Amino acid sequence: MDQTLQPQLASELLAKQELIRATKGFMPPDEGAALAAALKGCDVSMDLPAVEIGSYTGLSTIYLGTAAQLQGRLLLSVDHHHGSQENQAGWEYHDPSLIDPVSGKMDTLYLFRRAMELAGLDDTVIIVVANSQSFAATFCTEIGFLFIDGGHGHDQAYSDYDSWVPKLAESGVLAIHDVFADPSLGGQAPYHLYQRSLGEGFQEIGAQGSLRVMRKGSA
Ligand code: SAH
Ligand code: MG
Repeated sequence: MDQTLQPQLASELLAKQELIRATKGFMPPDEGAALAAALKGCDVSMDLPAVEIGSYTGLSTIYLGTAAQLQGRLLLSVDHHHGSQENQAGWEYHDPSLIDPVSGKMDTLYLFRRAMELAGLDDTVIIVVANSQSFAATFCTEIGFLFIDGGHGHDQAYSDYDSWVPKLAESGVLAIHDVFADPSLGGQAPYHLYQRSLGEGFQEIGAQGSLRVMRKGSA
């Protein structure tokens, strides 16, 4: 991937450094910058929104939203905000401070909303509080860009792919996070989705850490 971020994108991200550092999440800065650059470089019609599956508290959304805002594209960020299996108590990526004391469930929505406000992205990011599959079933618009970073278990990840990838326009861009060829480094579902996309006519156009970026079709 071309690591030279467009100057405007680089300076916008630099201005958000403090917020990025203070936001909980699972997006290393080099991968976040590559994700933002991938969206900024996506030249499919700006009328077609970008979609993120897996908002959590907004770390990846700050990167994507900054790029989308510069493009004049809308970004829908989808999450039920109750956490994935690996975020629940007893699992590796659990953060007890994210439990709502009343419901006893994880709740990342208020932190996500706050992060979008602080990032100045309210005009760009549409917060969708929903199960990814239910929302996909009612969403009938083509999309220009798709970032899959929701539930990482096999069934959940495959169902995100099945629900959302068919909505990508020709030449649209698909980004997948947590792609690890080596099972000792992480779960294999995102890696399998990545391989599947290559077998279905996607061309790899970028990689950074565990992020993979593919374009639909040969263009
Ligand atoms: N992109 C974030 C991390 C996302 S963690 C970052 O880089 O920081 C994965 C998120 O997917 C969790 O917040 C979880 O609530 C959400 N998620 C898991 N399964 C989901 C589903 N079926 N529908 C909607 N959101 C889901
Ligand atoms: Mg991730």
